[in-house]
Amino acid sequence: MEPVVETTDEVVKEKIVRPGESRFRAFLEMTPTRTYKCQFVTEHGPCERTEERLDRAQGHARQHLDYRPYVCGGKCARPDCTQRFFSSGQKDDHIRRSIPRRKECEHCGKQISIQNVSRHMKVIHHQNLPQEKPSVAFKPY
Ligand SMILES: [Zn+2]
Ligand SMILES: [Zn+2]
Ligand SMILES: [Zn+2]
Repeated sequence: MEPVVETTDEVVKEKIVRPGESRFRAFLEMTPTRTYKCQFVTEHGPCERTEERLDRAQGHARQHLDYRPYVCGGKCARPDCTQRFFSSGQKDDHIRRSIPRRKECEHCGKQISIQNVSRHMKVIHHQNLPQEKPSVAFKPY
């Protein structure tokens, strides 16, 4: 995660960024239509890209410095995933996209959406999930 802006920070003293905001807020200017305009100056001149959401705009500003503080860390379908993102929105998109929404039923091969698996098992195959095997009953002699 990006380090928090402290009250002692220069960007706070200069009233560019408020404490607790992202330091990349410093690159953004609120336009009269309440969108965020990027003030970053590139080799081709000012960027001036506008975004409606602050999260997206800050994510965009981070791209100028290739700064990706949001780490997946295996929250997607791959536990060893090390992908990094410019904004939390991008990270959420990545996690949402990577998780399969459907699963093949091991009994009938039908594709079932994840949230319907336990209902399918119960209704179609008369099984309750999670499948717990009954403990072996004590057999008297
Ligand atoms: Zn920009
Ligand atoms: Zn991932
Ligand atoms: Zn089935």
